[in-house]
Amino acid sequence: MRKKIVAGNWKCNTNLKEGIALASEVEKLYTQSGVKDVLTIVSPPFVHLTEVAKVLKNVKLSAQNCAAEPKGAFTGEVSAEMVKSTGAEFCIIGHSERREYYGDTNSILAKKVKLAMANGLTPIFCIGEVLAERESGKLFDVIKTQLQDGIFFLSAEEFGKVIIAYEPVWAIGTGVVATPAQAQEMHKFIREQISLKYGKSVADSTSILYGGSCKASNAKELFANPDVDGGLIGGAALKAEEFLGIITAF
Ligand code: PEP
Repeated sequence: MRKKIVAGNWKCNTNLKEGIALASEVEKLYTQSGVKDVLTIVSPPFVHLTEVAKVLKNVKLSAQNCAAEPKGAFTGEVSAEMVKSTGAEFCIIGHSERREYYGDTNSILAKKVKLAMANGLTPIFCIGEVLAERESGKLFDVIKTQLQDGIFFLSAEEFGKVIIAYEPVWAIGTGVVATPAQAQEMHKFIREQISLKYGKSVADSTSILYGGSCKASNAKELFANPDVDGGLIGGAALKAEEFLGIITAF
């Protein structure tokens, strides 16, 4: 059985004090809720990781990115090994904002995936099409290429540890959410691609998260789809109560 997962991506929000307070509140509400079968993850900015790790027990910790090089003269970069040493277990890789604003190509992302895995981090690998690609009917080709070039170099055993997040770029931070049918159609396609590459059993056990303007009020209908295993949450992860509403929406 694949896992249900809700992961919050805080992006470039919260100072350290606010980040610790938010993580503490998420930990408290999640623990009080008694929910046991939803893997819950928060992804604060890099500089918060060590301190946030101290206030988490049941909620897991992720970084939002890692360097494409293992170490060395790469000013401002944070390596996968550094991320792992904070206590984080997960690492978001390939978020559309990294692809769009920081030049993270599929081949750079493949290097990040490799380093994350080598350091014992579970990649939360993001894929998604922009609006023009959807409207011109290229969406399935785009997703296929992102998978093939960014992560399908892994062995079946390695891929079995990965989490995929489908995030249509036109839905991220826009308030425009994919319809449950649009989400299901793409998640099913992604699972088929995984099955073609790695076989049915790996495909059936891979968690595929939906991301893009998901909130407590629309999570239930999205998560009700057979191939939607949870969510990668941006804005709605910045309020602990709202985030809990998503965790309890299955
Ligand atoms: C995201 O950035 O991963 C995301 C899904 O953002 P939002 O929920 O704000 O659309």
